[in-house]
Amino acid sequence: MSEPRLKLAVQSKGRLSDGGMELLSKAGVRFAYGRDQLHRRADNMPLDLMLVRDDDIPSFVVGGACDYGIVGENVLYEMQARSRRYADLEVALPLGFAKCTLKLAAPKAGSIRSIADLAGRSVATSYPGLTRRYLDDRGISAEIVEMRGSVEVAPRMGIADAICDLVSSGATLEANGLAAFETVLESEAVLVRRSSSRIPEIEAVAGTLIERMEGVIASAQTKYILLNAPKDRLKEIKDLIPGSDAPTIAQIADRDDVVAVHAVCRERVFWETLEKLRAAGARAILVLPIEKMMA
Ligand code: ATP
Ligand code: ZN
Repeated sequence: MSEPRLKLAVQSKGRLSDGGMELLSKAGVRFAYGRDQLHRRADNMPLDLMLVRDDDIPSFVVGGACDYGIVGENVLYEMQARSRRYADLEVALPLGFAKCTLKLAAPKAGSIRSIADLAGRSVATSYPGLTRRYLDDRGISAEIVEMRGSVEVAPRMGIADAICDLVSSGATLEANGLAAFETVLESEAVLVRRSSSRIPEIEAVAGTLIERMEGVIASAQTKYILLNAPKDRLKEIKDLIPGSDAPTIAQIADRDDVVAVHAVCRERVFWETLEKLRAAGARAILVLPIEKMMA
């Protein structure tokens, strides 16, 4: 019998595809060259990619055509809000990219300023499940107008009074004279799987993949910081290093007033932090990226 291979569904083209392929590559998965539009076979791991529309991924995973998938929370939760069929899906790992927000917005020039103003009005959206549930939970009765795309033009075309749509920078809203007034969902890409009927041999492969992805995600935010600190200000300097619990303190040759401090920072290191460190007497400050991490 051939070795079981993990089938992972990834968007074929788009934001989730770019971020997903980059994550897999950093996790050390190599793909054999091939002309197949739908499948790609990893040559250093028992893993096969299925390249599909992101909207189909929840269905493929729940139905067992794939074991895992990379999908936006927006799509996953929308499917779950629409149908019980997706109830068995769970998030195995948040992936930290493709961040966006599902927001309610209305014309700046109009009278809708808050969610209460939506009572008896209409909302155009590609997310009818999430929008309906959000309004229902708050006791607001509004008409939902489902649209596949270009939702931002609905108010101007007289199709709906407000919209519920994905926003990242807000430029599209601005360009259409709309202002957001309520956040329905904060979304990022996630690794999704069935919570039941998983296959043990596949889970072993998935476990390795997840552990590596965790390492990639953690190292993206983590930096290694090196600096020299005057001994009498060491405590102050240690407290300024963000997200580091146990720095290494080392002797510097021929100096007994200064020590070297090495620390892993599990938070972003801003210029402001470096300026404060220097003001506290730190010198020769280096901030280095970390390529791989494993606890
Ligand atoms: P297809 O259905 O053909 O696979 P799509 O049009 O749904 O493609 P994208 O526009 O690439 O695909 O969006 C995929 C996902 O990326 C969205 O479902 C959402 O999770 C996330 N996303 C959408 N807009 C943004 C944005 N502006 N910034 C970051 N992430 C976004
Ligand atoms: Zn899509």
